[in-house]
Amino acid sequence: MEDAAGQLAEAQSLLARALAGSDERMLRDDALLELTATAEAVGRLADALRIRAAGEVAFRSRRELGEDRLSARKGCRNAVELLARVTLASERTITQRMRLGAAVRPRTALSGDTMPARFEQVASALAAGTLGYDSALAIVDTLDPIRARVGDLNVELAETALVAAATGPTAESPLPFAADEVRGQARVWENVLDEDGTVPAEERAMAARGISGGLTRDGLVHRKMALLPEIDAKFETLLNAYLSPRSKPTFNDTDPDQPKDPRATAQARHDVFASLIDGAARSAAAPTMGGAAPTVLVSVRQADLAAGAGSGFIEGCEAPISLGAVEQFICAGGQQHVLIGDDGTLVSLSTTDRVFNAAQRRAISLRDGGCIIPGCTIPAAWSEIHHVIAYRDGGETETCNGVLLCWFHHRTIETSGWRILMIDGVPHVKPPPWLRNGRTDAETPWRRSTSSRTQLADLLEQQRERQPVLVE
Ligand SMILES: [Zn+2]
Repeated sequence: MEDAAGQLAEAQSLLARALAGSDERMLRDDALLELTATAEAVGRLADALRIRAAGEVAFRSRRELGEDRLSARKGCRNAVELLARVTLASERTITQRMRLGAAVRPRTALSGDTMPARFEQVASALAAGTLGYDSALAIVDTLDPIRARVGDLNVELAETALVAAATGPTAESPLPFAADEVRGQARVWENVLDEDGTVPAEERAMAARGISGGLTRDGLVHRKMALLPEIDAKFETLLNAYLSPRSKPTFNDTDPDQPKDPRATAQARHDVFASLIDGAARSAAAPTMGGAAPTVLVSVRQADLAAGAGSGFIEGCEAPISLGAVEQFICAGGQQHVLIGDDGTLVSLSTTDRVFNAAQRRAISLRDGGCIIPGCTIPAAWSEIHHVIAYRDGGETETCNGVLLCWFHHRTIETSGWRILMIDGVPHVKPPPWLRNGRTDAETPWRRSTSSRTQLADLLEQQRERQPVLVE
C-alpha cells in the first residue's frame, strides 16, 4: 500500500512535468486531439482513485461506528465535511464520489467474507481506466434506485450492456458511447425493466419530494423545489390570496383609485413568500432557538452603515446583502453593537434595543390591520414594524412611531416615494408623485390608512354622520 502511495507521488511529479513542458498552442491539430484524449485517460484513472478513496472514507465514517467513526475522530460531523476539508471539492462533487464509491466498493458479508461490489463491472471498468466518471455516475444513479424493484439479476444485465456501450466497441456501435448517450441508454433500460412502475407514482413522488439547498449566483440564492401536488396547491393558493389585486394579471383597469403595483407577478409572489416566512418565524408556535425566536444574524461594519456604503452579511449565507436590506433588518428586528478590537478581541457588547415588544405589536396590529400601503393585502401577522422616524433620527420604539409594512413595502419605503406621517398617533400616507394624477404635493392630502376591520367600521360611521342619509 505504501508502494501505491509512492507510485502516485511519482505519477504526480511526472504529470506536473508534462504539464510544465506542454504548450498546446504550438501543437498541430491531430497532436492536440491526441493530447486531449491522453489527458482524459489520465483523468479517468485519477477519478477512479478519487471515487474509491471517497468510498473508503465514507465507509470508515459510517454512522453505526458511533464516536469511533473516522469523521468523528477527525472532528468532523460526517464524511462529507471530512472529505471537503481534505479535497476542497464541492459538497455536490463529494456526495457523487461517495455514492459511486459505495457502489464499487467490495462488500463484506455478515460471515466476514468479501463479496463483489454492487456494481462490479462499473468497478472494474473504472479501475481499468476505460469508463469515465460521468458514464459511471449515469449507470449507477439510474440503476441503483430501481434495484429493489427489478432485482439484482436485471440490474446486472443492464449494467453489463451499459458498461460495454460506454467502453465500446460493441455489436451495435463501432465506437464507445459518450456519457450523455450512456445516460440516455440507461433511461431506456430503466423504462424497460421498471416498465409500468411497480411502485405507484405517488410513492415515487413521495421519495423524490424536496427543497434543495441554495446555490448563490448573481446575488440570488437559487433553490429547486419539487413539491407534492397538494402542497403546491396550498402554496399557490396562499401566494395568490395575498397578491394585491393589482399585481395579479388582469385585463381590466377599472379602478383608477387603487394604486398600481409595478412589480411583475413573479416578484410579487416572492414578496408574499418573504412576508409569509416572517410571519411564520414570528408566530408563537415557531420553535425557539435557545429561548429566543428563530433569529437571522446579520453583521455589518459600523463605518459602512454610517457611510451608507458597503454591504452586510447574513450568518450562514455566502451572498452579501445590500445596506438597504441591512437597514430593514435593523428597523424591524433591532440591533446589537459589538465592538471588536484591532487584535480581534471582543471589547464590548450592547444589549439588543429598539425592538417592538409583543404588547406593542398587538396594539399596532389592531390599529393598522396589515401593511398600511393602500392596495396591499399582506395581513398584520406577516408584516414588519417600521419606525416612521428612524431610530438614529431620534424616533422612539413606541406605538406612535411604529406602523405595519409588508416585507416589500418596508424594503422599498426609502425609494418608492410613499410617505408616512403620524398625525396624533394615527398613520397617514401620501402616494408617490406618479400616483397623484398630476396633483402637486401640496394638493395631495395625507390619507389615513388602515385595513383594520374595526377601524374601517369607525371610518364609515364618521362618513355617514357627515352625509345624512335621506329617509323616505
Ligand atoms: Zn405592503
